[in-house]
Amino acid sequence: MGMLRRFKNPPVFALVLTAVLLGALGGIDSWADNDLPRIKFLATGGTIATRGGTRLSAEEVLEMVPGLQKYARPEPEQFANIASTAMTLDQWVQLANRINAVFDADAGLTGAVITSGTDSLEELAYFLHLTVKTTRPVIVVGSMRNAGAPGFEGSANLLDAFRVAASTESRGKGVLVVLNDEINSAREVTKTDALRLQTFQSRPYGILGVVDPDRVVYYREPVKRHTQKTEFDVAALTGLPRVDIMMFYQGASSDLLRAAVDAGAKGIVIAVAGADLTGGSLAPGIAYASRQGVMIVAATRTGSGRIAALSSNRVREGLIGGEDLTPLKARILLMLALTRTHSPTDIQRMFTEY
Ligand code: ASP
Repeated sequence: MGMLRRFKNPPVFALVLTAVLLGALGGIDSWADNDLPRIKFLATGGTIATRGGTRLSAEEVLEMVPGLQKYARPEPEQFANIASTAMTLDQWVQLANRINAVFDADAGLTGAVITSGTDSLEELAYFLHLTVKTTRPVIVVGSMRNAGAPGFEGSANLLDAFRVAASTESRGKGVLVVLNDEINSAREVTKTDALRLQTFQSRPYGILGVVDPDRVVYYREPVKRHTQKTEFDVAALTGLPRVDIMMFYQGASSDLLRAAVDAGAKGIVIAVAGADLTGGSLAPGIAYASRQGVMIVAATRTGSGRIAALSSNRVREGLIGGEDLTPLKARILLMLALTRTHSPTDIQRMFTEY
């Protein structure tokens, strides 16, 4: 009251007080704007959720993103809090099912943002690209620096991820990987450097778009089948078949290939040199695998380029051309393909369509 008496113009004081109170309320619930797109936030851990040696919760990660309340209303959920390489294939399946369930239950949800450690982010993102059944944006994001490090870029990456998830232009483009102000397709993106911030690249294909200060901008979109247009159904899955990757290198022995077959692999991706499908010193192992009915997919170890299908006879023997997928991505497609069919011709078709 003393303050009110000292204030020369009481009506103006009342106005200022109301404004201050409203501002404070806005601060308490800064996501009160119901017009903002609602985005599911599923946190799985990784460096982006690490400060020093401490793991941060989904809510703590969100607190590090200034300005987020201008673009979206996040709905956080802690799915896991682990390194990407610690995630099991069963957890991938559970995550895909969780995303599908969240979208099925909530028609008003605009999109989803998933955090992941960066080391195997490209694998998780491609798995979701083939198994999440929605046209709504699903963004996978991480960071190279931890939240306690100078120049932590996770806040900027997260803000970008939410802006991309909130953009209507992101619909129908499959799972998108957003880091470093760039939007990449989950199908093409790969981690190219162990430490640099600009590590995520789509090599010859390039980025789909950028996240600029004024708006999210797209230049192209994926044309291969993904998300709601795939034939894969994770809801029916109890597990994924074992598929291993073997790299060809000069003098590589067929022993490891035979060992993988004997250990129960249902498929093997050979990271071949160049576009050579015959396998050089791996040829005896490939022949052994094919006699046991194990599917062999050739994918180039060069990082880009295409392995075309061989003759239909070779395809029938279970030797599949992996097209332009990297060995890591070819393995994911082969695992999912084997949940649907054991026909090599059908699997070869999938490699040309996905
Ligand atoms: N080791 C971390 C992970 O993949 C690396 C990162 O997030 O950048 O979980």
